[in-house]
Amino acid sequence: MADSTGYEAHIDRLRGLSYPVGVYRPPSEGGSFSLLLRISENCPWNKCTFCNMYKGHRFVYRSVADIKADIDTVRVMQEEITAISRKLGFGGMVTREVARAILRADPPVDRDHSFAGMFNWLSSGGKTAFLQDANSLIMRPAEFVEVLRYLRERLPSLERVTSYARSKTLAQRKPEELQAIREAGLDRIHVGLETGDDEVLQIINKGVTSDEQIAGGRKAVEAGFQLSLYWMTDLGGRRRWRQHAENTARVLSAIDPHYIRSRPLVPRRGTPLYSEYEAGNLILSSPHERLQELEVMIGNLDVTSRVCFDHAMNSWTDGRGRLLFKQDYEGYQFPDEKEFVLERIRRGLSVDESSHVSVDELIAMGTF
Ligand code: SF4
Repeated sequence: MADSTGYEAHIDRLRGLSYPVGVYRPPSEGGSFSLLLRISENCPWNKCTFCNMYKGHRFVYRSVADIKADIDTVRVMQEEITAISRKLGFGGMVTREVARAILRADPPVDRDHSFAGMFNWLSSGGKTAFLQDANSLIMRPAEFVEVLRYLRERLPSLERVTSYARSKTLAQRKPEELQAIREAGLDRIHVGLETGDDEVLQIINKGVTSDEQIAGGRKAVEAGFQLSLYWMTDLGGRRRWRQHAENTARVLSAIDPHYIRSRPLVPRRGTPLYSEYEAGNLILSSPHERLQELEVMIGNLDVTSRVCFDHAMNSWTDGRGRLLFKQDYEGYQFPDEKEFVLERIRRGLSVDESSHVSVDELIAMGTF
């Protein structure tokens, strides 16, 4: 039978507890309800012309002590919520009923962003964490190792810990530093590669060369990380589409990451790239032209990666109103499914172009 004695005491201890949570994380981490923890704040580079994620926000290097304090807060919240569940007769399971009981007793908790994240994380088993913000590898390696060890020790239910990093930073790290970070408990790194073409890299001010991308990517794979790389269809526009496609395939093939994720370009208002687009200096491709670029990129890929289209921007259809590509987080296994993906591209090219969503429509819909 449920024991309600002391239930209020747990609510009291939960009251006022929170920890900072950033805005951005990869979609796959949302799908798995990862615990979000801020290792640093915003982006230390913050100069890519297509990106508005952290504009106007200065980079903050967080101290080990502050991050450990946040991890302690997560641990206490986890213990208190689990204890409340037991008192309510749910045996430690974090269910909707448990959340409702907490919010009834202390409605202000509902307004706290970290509570919602914590609740979703616990209710899905507390298995994964994503370390924010844009480039956790910027942290001094010894400090990052200390944070990761503490995280794994204090939150032992974690089975997977992931983070964002820049290729440039990966290239700058020594192999033994990356290995130490891997062994301390970071499993997967998400990197915005965007393009492997040096001219386009310069135009978008990515702050990295294709040689550095390859060096950083290979180092990450050799250190034992799962590597997830993102690229942007049409980032070179009509003028540079072929070099963008061929060089992106060249860089991805040289790295052979675990995941390749497609994010077709949709210019974001307020960015330098959007101004170029508005001024007519960047001419974007039509839906069929984008598929042709994709055909060249995929055709040139020589990888054993999973190739994914896990975002709504991959909106091409097959003429019957169905999406051309599945949008799940595991995508297609290459090289086995390469021909299948190429066949889907040819299918998309065979239907009337007006049945695909145009870039203008994507901008209008705000699908990004
Ligand atoms: S490194 Fe990433 S977060 Fe930083 S400006 Fe470039 S795209 Fe944006």
